[in-house]
Amino acid sequence: MRFCPHCAAPLIPRRTDSAQRLACKAECGYVFWDNPVPVLAAVIEHEGLVLLARNKNWPDGMFGLVTGFLERDETPEQGVLREVEEEIGIAGELVAPIGNYAFSSQNQIILAYHVRTAGSIHLGDELADYRLIEPVRVRPWDFGTGPALRDWLARRLGE
Ligand SMILES: [Zn+2]
Repeated sequence: MRFCPHCAAPLIPRRTDSAQRLACKAECGYVFWDNPVPVLAAVIEHEGLVLLARNKNWPDGMFGLVTGFLERDETPEQGVLREVEEEIGIAGELVAPIGNYAFSSQNQIILAYHVRTAGSIHLGDELADYRLIEPVRVRPWDFGTGPALRDWLARRLGE
């Protein structure tokens, strides 16, 4: 961001409470805080298997969790169930929160939930493909939503 959304003056680096931030040069009071954006993520357990999905914008062979942004006036629990229904066409059952995970490189905070589903999968507009994998065969990745999946697997396989 380069210009103030209130008065259109340039943004310049300015020392605020605890850090250097971009602030309005015209001193209208605007500060670009650049706070992390919450992102919902679902570890979907579909009839006992882990569902990993491929976004249409991702390269072949790349699969991940179903994710999405919160809508206004929505709780994270409502939001994650809405995303699951939009992306795989099934009204899921929210089992439990998994945890919150910083994804600094994307300036996101991931709110991860375990969602259980059953029945016929119908992919929504954002997804190109999916895989159903036995929990013991799932290999979580190190970044983004991967640590949430890793923690869920550790609990699931530790039972
Ligand atoms: Zn301004």
